[in-house]
Amino acid sequence: MFKKLTGKIFGKDTSKSSSDGFFLNVRCNECREQFHLFINKSWELMQNFENNGSVTYSLQKEIFGVGCKNRIQVKMQFDSGKNLKSRQIENGEFIEDKHPRQSNGP
Ligand SMILES: [Zn+2]
Repeated sequence: MFKKLTGKIFGKDTSKSSSDGFFLNVRCNECREQFHLFINKSWELMQNFENNGSVTYSLQKEIFGVGCKNRIQVKMQFDSGKNLKSRQIENGEFIEDKHPRQSNGP
């Protein structure tokens, strides 16, 4: 049972599970180290119950590298459809993908 579960998480299926998750790419302000964390939307997002009865989601991450005292704080807010609405970062910066992949094209 455990063996099967581990194989599923660390297997080569990770690349095609991007539909329910995304990569969080950040750079440390201190040592310029880059981090590429995969966020699984189905279990890493926190539920927030709004006053009007709707549900929104948020994410808080603390990232720090080996041998670096700097701690990068990331906060993200999502709507009820788990679409990113806003994000903040402290002690680091978001790395934008300069070469976005296009699904259709030559
Ligand atoms: Zn650092």
